[in-house]
Amino acid sequence: MFFQTCFAFLIPEILVRLNKPYFDFKNIWPLDYSFFFDSRINELLANGTLGLFMLGWGIALIILGVPVLVYFFGKRWYCSWVCGCGGLAETLGDPYRQLSNKSLKAWKIERWMIHSVLVFSVVMTAAVLYTYWTGASWFFFVDSYKLREVYGAWIGAGFAGVVGTGFYPVMGNRVWCRFGCPLAAYLGLIQRFKSRFRITTNGGQCISCGNCSTYCEMGIDVRWYAQRGQNIVRSSCVGCGICSSVCPRGVLNLEVKNEKGRLGKEELIGNTN
Ligand code: SF4
Ligand code: SF4
Repeated sequence: MFFQTCFAFLIPEILVRLNKPYFDFKNIWPLDYSFFFDSRINELLANGTLGLFMLGWGIALIILGVPVLVYFFGKRWYCSWVCGCGGLAETLGDPYRQLSNKSLKAWKIERWMIHSVLVFSVVMTAAVLYTYWTGASWFFFVDSYKLREVYGAWIGAGFAGVVGTGFYPVMGNRVWCRFGCPLAAYLGLIQRFKSRFRITTNGGQCISCGNCSTYCEMGIDVRWYAQRGQNIVRSSCVGCGICSSVCPRGVLNLEVKNEKGRLGKEELIGNTN
């Protein structure tokens, strides 16, 4: 609520009233898919030092902010604490969190979809930047203007807006975060392979009640890990902590450990279900 009120509404509105560019300091590409559009780059470049700072801030968040903060806190720093989509999911969507599909099939579809959107956003942005630097609208065999239009309509409006929130009562509260958000995919890749955040389990205490799996909004079958005493290092986990708080036996703990405390290679390989 704080980040959304201050960073998405108050600060941008104040900036606009001062004749400065509208800028949401917490919105990060590729979620903010229009960040590199020529209209926005030109607007920032035309606003002197402040505009350059905003451009640098946005780029620094992508290449430094995301990896460093995910390393220390996992993707929860963004998905659970900062992001407006996450905020909406945790408030308006919270009554539907148990509806997220926990099946292996859903997990496979999720990985395909979210990484496809990430690739789409990277290709679209590459085409946009190519057009910006060269002035040519054709990037290989596609028109970059058409590509950004398609991305904006199908992913930005259709998927993130209509499906992402309208389907809460059908697919749970994290439909967009789980299946579509390209930033979540980027955060998740770092969390999966280079983060100190994980959920540790004490398998011996688990009574297999299934509360943790039922209430996991990201569709993770937490019980499967708990029964085996395996720590949970899943790219989709947003670190909401609900699995831990609904566990009647105190099996699950959200922890940040140093690199030496990371899982061994065998555990990582076995930790794929
Ligand atoms: S913290 Fe637990 S409930 Fe929340 S997303 Fe991660 S596994 Fe699911
Ligand atoms: S909520 Fe706790 S006891 Fe129940 S299945 Fe999950 S880890 Fe096991």
